[in-house]
Amino acid sequence: MTQKLKVGIYWAASCGGCEIATLEIAENILKFIEVADLVLCPCIADFKYDDVRAYPDGYIDVCFFNGGIRNSEAKEIAELLRKKSKTLVAFGACANWGGIPALANLYTKDAMIERSYITTESNDNPQGTLPQTSYKMPEGELHLPKLFDSVHKLDDVVDVDYYVPGCPPVAKQIWSCIEAIAAGKLPPKGSVIGVGDKSVCDECPFEKKTEGVRISKFKRPHLEKPDLTKKAELNNKPQCLLEQGFVCMGSATRSGCEAQCLKANMPCRGCYGPAEGVEDQGAKIASAIGSLVDSQGNSERSAEIVAQIVDPVGTFYRFGMGNSMLRVKKL
Ligand code: SF4
Ligand code: SF4
Ligand code: SF4
Repeated sequence: MTQKLKVGIYWAASCGGCEIATLEIAENILKFIEVADLVLCPCIADFKYDDVRAYPDGYIDVCFFNGGIRNSEAKEIAELLRKKSKTLVAFGACANWGGIPALANLYTKDAMIERSYITTESNDNPQGTLPQTSYKMPEGELHLPKLFDSVHKLDDVVDVDYYVPGCPPVAKQIWSCIEAIAAGKLPPKGSVIGVGDKSVCDECPFEKKTEGVRISKFKRPHLEKPDLTKKAELNNKPQCLLEQGFVCMGSATRSGCEAQCLKANMPCRGCYGPAEGVEDQGAKIASAIGSLVDSQGNSERSAEIVAQIVDPVGTFYRFGMGNSMLRVKKL
């Protein structure tokens, strides 16, 4: 019998959703345990860092690392897992580009701490106690990791072999990555795997009208429903959600999820990251939206329409702030 793959799954600044998504491979989990042993997964078992430190270098065949780099602990473990893993995969939007935690990069560390520990309405902290990196107790000194000024993507701190995007990656793509790894059929180092090579629009059940569409009102999907009877001129499909005024990131986003949000009549939020050839996903969608606004040559009208988009930065860079051309503070 060939030796089983040793697989690690680690979380840094993450929500745990990427681990849960791996369970969605459903009955394939039985095939997975035929070919692989899980040698690290803090989400489901109590692995100690010292156990990992004791592994020989390169002991883990493939490590799926999810979450961004928010603090000194995440950086230290990323460096440790890089050393202990033959193949390191940035798994999910947070590891790829900082993900949702990196939206905090819009604020300074001090402002974020003040909001979290002092001014949040539900806080009960009359003495204004803030987290300390060390604290002396009668039993000894306690240590907490140092918070960095901003959230970073995994390849800001270590060399990454492959990238699997998504928030979280979809089960079908996770399984196709595992199969490729088990069969030793991986593309060149640095590739984005478990994805398509087009944009979400190419897999979308909605259809763009060819020309003449202008947006004069932006809508929010929890307040208004898309009009499914409004057919585009081509193919008799329902008209593109963006053209209907819903902010949809599909044209700036890499395919691979089979447009699963669109199939539920929800606009794409962009979790598969920039489409091939797109350097900055947020800038790309801002430019696409700008070209559709019904300005009628009037910049004030244009500004009024664009102002209807709630939280444009948080919307356009929901997953990609750690990789954006906007301000990113250093470690
Ligand atoms: S990519 Fe999404 S699901 Fe995965 S850890 Fe980040 S927030 Fe959670
Ligand atoms: S912009 Fe959105 S709704 Fe329109 S075609 Fe692309 S993915 Fe579909
Ligand atoms: S449609 Fe967009 S937001 Fe939804 S899973 Fe696909 S890439 Fe992510």
